[in-house]
Amino acid sequence: MAKEPNPKFADEVAKQPGGETLSLCFQCGTCTGSCPSGRMTSYRTRKLIRRAQLGLEEDVLKSPDLWACTTCYACMERCPRGVDIVDIITVLRNMAVKQGIMSDEHRKVGEYLLKNGATIPLNEKYEAIREKLGLSRRPATTLGDKKALEDFQKILKATGFDKLLEEKQ
Ligand code: SF4
Ligand code: SF4
Repeated sequence: MAKEPNPKFADEVAKQPGGETLSLCFQCGTCTGSCPSGRMTSYRTRKLIRRAQLGLEEDVLKSPDLWACTTCYACMERCPRGVDIVDIITVLRNMAVKQGIMSDEHRKVGEYLLKNGATIPLNEKYEAIREKLGLSRRPATTLGDKKALEDFQKILKATGFDKLLEEKQ
């Protein structure tokens, strides 16, 4: 059931970089029809944007739908109103994260990044290919250089990234 709307919510989204075009959506549904995630799940891009326009803050920020977007940009390329859909979703996700709300999958990716300095691991197979090419098994990045990883972790902690990953509820 829809929660009490926040009349200021749409303005709060629109004030943030990337959220400015929220009000331009006229609900044509082209985004939903273009969305590969929506083909596999109950996620509907148009509805998410509409809920944000209507100030249904809780419905938007606590919905698993918010995390179903893969940021493929198919919707944004086709939107006849030039709505920056992915940027709006990013703004909404940032708002959710500040309230301690994040999908388990996104949290795990964030934790992996914090621990290893990359979101995609380098496995035995790729290390062997690198070796075959005459390269070091691991690159001179956070994946292979301890100092680079420590510096990277320092930056993430200085920006408060690690705190955002903490579960608040
Ligand atoms: S394609 Fe654009 S205008 Fe149409 S519903 Fe989606 S965001 Fe709104
Ligand atoms: S960017 Fe997100 S909302 Fe848009 S089509 Fe791709 S998955 Fe769907």
